[in-house]
Amino acid sequence: MRIAVYPGSFDPISNGHLDIVKRAAKIFDKLYILVSFNPNKKYCFTNEERVEMMKKATKNIPNVIVEGSSSLVLNFAREKKASVIIRGLRNFIDYQNEITLFQFNRSIDNNIDTFILFPSADNLFLSSSAIKELVMFGSEISNYVPLELVDFITEKIKRRM
Ligand code: ADP
Repeated sequence: MRIAVYPGSFDPISNGHLDIVKRAAKIFDKLYILVSFNPNKKYCFTNEERVEMMKKATKNIPNVIVEGSSSLVLNFAREKKASVIIRGLRNFIDYQNEITLFQFNRSIDNNIDTFILFPSADNLFLSSSAIKELVMFGSEISNYVPLELVDFITEKIKRRM
């Protein structure tokens, strides 16, 4: 069975994340989405909210399992018997981060590989921070996040302003 893990902050989830999830779920038999609980990071959405958003957005994809954890991605992957980590790569900044993470992970466990998926054209410029900025400047985000989450995400970001 081919098992993969897609880790991330998803603060909040965007259509770019969801596109990667849908494409990876077609390639792997089982896809775990690891919503990272990193105590060193400041999130806009709570751990529970980030897990809940991802669960709602992926509820119709049967081979996707969403979990939140503060584990190291590699430990989570080993625990789930996953041999692949999925990441998205939009630009050179992502490239620098992702290749460093990849080399770091390989130096610890070379049985776990990283698969990079490039975004679909519509999502190339999309990021969680862009979504927050759009809301802060009063713009609509329905083209950028799953429709069922537009109101929740908008209200939460407005409350945090
Ligand atoms: P992290 O804090 O781990 O970078 P993110 O939620 O920002 O968490 O991103 C998770 C993964 O999704 C990363 O590999 C990132 O490059 C990728 N990603 C983010 N936005 C997009 C997008 N619009 N299209 C494709 N991949 C994306």
